[in-house]
Amino acid sequence: MNRLGVRDRAQVLQALCEGNSLRACERIFKRPLGTVVRIVEEVGDMAIDFHRNLPPVKSERIQADELWSFVGQNDRGVAKPDKSKAHDGVTWTYLAIDRDTNLVLAYHNGSRRTVDATKFMKKLAGRLERSSNGEFVVKPTISVDGLKAYRDAIEQAFADTVHAGSYEKTYDRLNKDGEPTPGSRFVGAIRKPIKGSPAYEDINTWRVERENGFMRQANRRFTRKTNAFSKSMIFHERQVAIWMLYRNFCWVPRPRRPRDGSGKWVKRVTPAMEAGLTDRIWTEDDLIERSDQFLVNRISISEKEPEQSANVAEDAPFWVNHSPQHRRAKIHTAECSARRKAFGSTSRTNYAGAWTGFADRDEAITFAAKLEPVNHEECRLCLGSYKMLSTYGRRI
Ligand SMILES: [Zn+2]
Repeated sequence: MNRLGVRDRAQVLQALCEGNSLRACERIFKRPLGTVVRIVEEVGDMAIDFHRNLPPVKSERIQADELWSFVGQNDRGVAKPDKSKAHDGVTWTYLAIDRDTNLVLAYHNGSRRTVDATKFMKKLAGRLERSSNGEFVVKPTISVDGLKAYRDAIEQAFADTVHAGSYEKTYDRLNKDGEPTPGSRFVGAIRKPIKGSPAYEDINTWRVERENGFMRQANRRFTRKTNAFSKSMIFHERQVAIWMLYRNFCWVPRPRRPRDGSGKWVKRVTPAMEAGLTDRIWTEDDLIERSDQFLVNRISISEKEPEQSANVAEDAPFWVNHSPQHRRAKIHTAECSARRKAFGSTSRTNYAGAWTGFADRDEAITFAAKLEPVNHEECRLCLGSYKMLSTYGRRI
């Protein structure tokens, strides 16, 4: 396969992170659309994996918010939304930012309901450094906006281990759902504590709202009133992941004058350097080289697989489903509907990944852990809490 050099691809990548669409890159760099798409694909998959494996950091003040966009079609104002594609429609991108270093700690794409807000808060919890007894090294203060889903989400992800507060803006005219109508005026904000005892001045969302603005300016997919929106969810995810990596590791903010009145300009570094994740400014070339390395590793994993899954008894009680594409391994029982569905098709290795049978549950877990050290789990339907619930009528 003919491949562009690292520098050429790095230029396209940077253009994509500075507000250009795929088609714009095609025209500017005079490369086929497929080449540009493949860069998003490869670097995007690397970036998704990269965020999963980032080491945790300490954070004192965190601001979280969500940002509106849509994939495939905008179902606002559409009489009959087409539900044939599961992910199509309005998508919210959650962001959590550290107020002191401006590092984006966690992000999540999903709905504005509690289930996605909780997933997001759990991701955030996983990004914060804990001491050996399981408590956070620094007890953070999390501020969110007035979205109700955050209350349950914070309760489920953090319980009483954080301070949290909400910054609720009020407008002069609201519709029947309590949302401000177009053209209504901002009249003030109320700061409410949710958990613990957050400092009044720390309950604020201005920094994360500025970050939402950066995201809209730097990603063509997020530009309102254009048809540059994402057409498929996986590419939406990829572009967001690439942007987060670029934003945290490559983007150097402009110099600023400190507020002490000295009048001197101070040079700044990337958020990742401020947070101590790296000691240098990354370039776009670094990202391309990382994605090339990621690709080599992934191919070697998927090539190994067939020999491991050879000679498997059809009636094995435990099964591991491995998807190299999503870098995920899941353990199921033979009775699980997921496994029965996969075996209903003619081929063992289909889009849903490869299946390997085991006589023993622990053996299956060890195998899954070897395939995907950071992303393996037991199926919640056949082996998890739902199973317990149905068998015993109560949660264990
Ligand atoms: Zn299952």
